[in-house]
Parts: sequence; C-alpha cells; structure tokens
Amino acid sequence: MTGSELSALPPGSTIGILGGGQLGRMLSLAAARLGLRTHIFTPEAGSPASQVSDQTTVAEYTDLKAITDFAKSVDVVTYEFENVPSKTAISAAVAAPIFPPIEALDVAQDRLTEKTFISNTAGVPVAPFYEVNNEFDASRALKVLGGKCVLKTRRLGYDGKGQQIISSEDMCAPAFKALGGVPCIAEQFIPFVREVSVVGARSPSGQYSAYPLIENEHRNHILYQSVCPAANDSGQAQSYAQSIAETLDYVGVLAVEFFELEDGSLLVNEIAPRVHNSGHFSMDAGCTDQFELHIRAIAGWPLGNTMPTHVTEMTNLLGEDMTDWETLAGDPDTRLHIYGKADARPGRKMAHINRRKS
Ligand code: AMP
Repeated sequence: MTGSELSALPPGSTIGILGGGQLGRMLSLAAARLGLRTHIFTPEAGSPASQVSDQTTVAEYTDLKAITDFAKSVDVVTYEFENVPSKTAISAAVAAPIFPPIEALDVAQDRLTEKTFISNTAGVPVAPFYEVNNEFDASRALKVLGGKCVLKTRRLGYDGKGQQIISSEDMCAPAFKALGGVPCIAEQFIPFVREVSVVGARSPSGQYSAYPLIENEHRNHILYQSVCPAANDSGQAQSYAQSIAETLDYVGVLAVEFFELEDGSLLVNEIAPRVHNSGHFSMDAGCTDQFELHIRAIAGWPLGNTMPTHVTEMTNLLGEDMTDWETLAGDPDTRLHIYGKADARPGRKMAHINRRKS
C-alpha cells in the first residue's frame, strides 16, 4: 500500500511501533491523546515505551514470525530507530503499511547511500565525500578531500561513535583499523559555525509542515541543548528538508541535520527517518509536538500546527544529571520529561527539560 492509498485511521486504531525506547514512549503518549492505541515491539522487557502502551511483544527483531504476527495485529507500523534490519521491515510490510517508507531506512542506514542519495537524487548539498574500503582509499581520500577529513563507518555509527578524524598520511591506516576495517566513508572536515536541524513531517497526501530552524549544541558528541526558533532562519534548511522528503515520497517525521558555514550556506550531515532528539523542544512550544505530528502523518490525519508561540530551549539530562531531578521538578519554569529507564548509566539519555526563553 502506498501513502496516497491510506485513508485516515479512526480513533481506536492501533499503531505498531518497532522499538521500546524514549522515542517510542513519547510517540505512545501522543497517540493516546488522539485516542489511538499502541503496540510496541522490542527485545527489552519493561521498556520505556511499554510502560505507557496498550500492548507489547517482547521478541528479537530477527524473529520474523513474531514480526509478522505483530504487524497483523496493528493498523500501521512505524519505528523509533533507523537501524531496523531490512528483513524485519519487509516482513512487517507484508502484513501492514509501514511508514516512513522502507527506502528511507535503506538511505539512512548507510552513510554512503545517504550522501549519494541526498546529493545526486535529491539535489541537496552535502560535505564532499569519498568511499573508503581499505587504508589506501583512506590516504587517497585525505588527498582528494583537502588534507583533513572525518572517517566514519558506513553503518551503525551514532553520537560520534565509529568516527576518526584524519589529517596526515600516517593517521590513515591506524584510523581505518581502529574503526574495525569495515566499509567506511571519508567526509571533508567542515569548519562549520553552527549545527542546525529541521524537523518536519509529510503526510500521505503530500502535505509538508516543519518547525522553524533548530540550533543544536553537542557536548562529547551527544546532543546537549537545542533552541527553536534559532536566530537567522533563511528558510533554506526547511526547503532542503522538504526536497529530501518529497524525493523519498516520505510519510512521517523526518529530521535533517545540517552544518552551517560562515557564509550561511548549509550542508546536510545526516538524516533521521524518525522523530528526533532536536525536536523535543516542541513538546512545550505551544504547537503540535513532533510525536503527535508523526502519529498524525502516519495515521493519515491533518498534520496540525508547527509554529511555536515562543522560543524554547531543550536540554538533555544524562545518567549523571539525574541526581538533580528533585530540584528540576521544583522549578516552575522547567518542564521535565523523564523516560522511565531503570538504570541511570553515565552518558545515557534519561530525560530532558524544556524551558521557555521568550
Ligand atoms: P555524526 O555522527 O555524523 O552526526 O557526527 C557527530 C558529530 O561529529 C557532528 O555533530 C559534528 O559535530 C562532528 N562531525 C561529523 N562530521 C563532520 C565533518 N564532516 N566535519 C566536521 N565535523 C563533523
């Protein structure tokens, strides 16, 4: 079934979500507000999403019988992480529509496919890149890309994991080895002035709606803070994000992360075919939040309003930050969102807070 054939799912319908983390949890809460039910598929018992959902299947993603049974029990399937194995997504799609489309997963799972698709098919600029399959490719990449680049594994990298900066010939072989000798991509090192993102949604009928530009600050490669609306929003990032969504015939929320250069031009760093950490501000921004936006899109509902009424700053709380929860809970200007994870390991995303800035 294609997006355009999907009629709106009435209240009482069930959304199936692959993944039981905090994104699945916030999607379930948004679905519940709209009178929709959720069924979570996760390998983890007692997951953050299961705690607030109607039903959970606990099984491995490779258990294709369990996936098919799960998909048969729901009206539409979606996912909260982009590394859903393709066989899993295909098995689900046999029994129920799956949104965002499987092509978006294929693009987002492999950095080489992603960069090639974004630049060649969608016509949106990315950092110059080079395919690296061995240490010799890494040295060639260094020369071609101007003497400094970021070597990244093509698959399964996140939050800066699976990356090495190389800036001299003798760094190439050790960097490739440190990444496990797996297929990589080298990207030119971009001296960006800031990192920004666009979170927007496309509906089955082709309606597209995005929040204003979001400015993101990372610490130790993990998102620390996002502010929306960001200063100096030319609208170019939203137009690039819309082109990518249209080229993919996308349905659901799509996040696009960019590097902004000194002259204001933008290069896509990566896309996420799902709700995104930089969109969490929207929960307290006076408009439709990104979780409801996604549920509305995949259920074939009108998208809602993505124009915030004020500036909101979102800050992630990691394991080590949770000792402060009582103080934060006592601050009337802070909206606290805790994910229900049992184990507050250092560096683990446990919660976030939203604060109104103006
Ligand atoms: P990624 O996992 O691709 O999102 O990269 C994590 C972080 O590494 C980004 O948010 C940037 O801060 C930095 N980074 C990634 N690629 C580049 C690049 N080509 N040039 C400069 N910094 C980069």
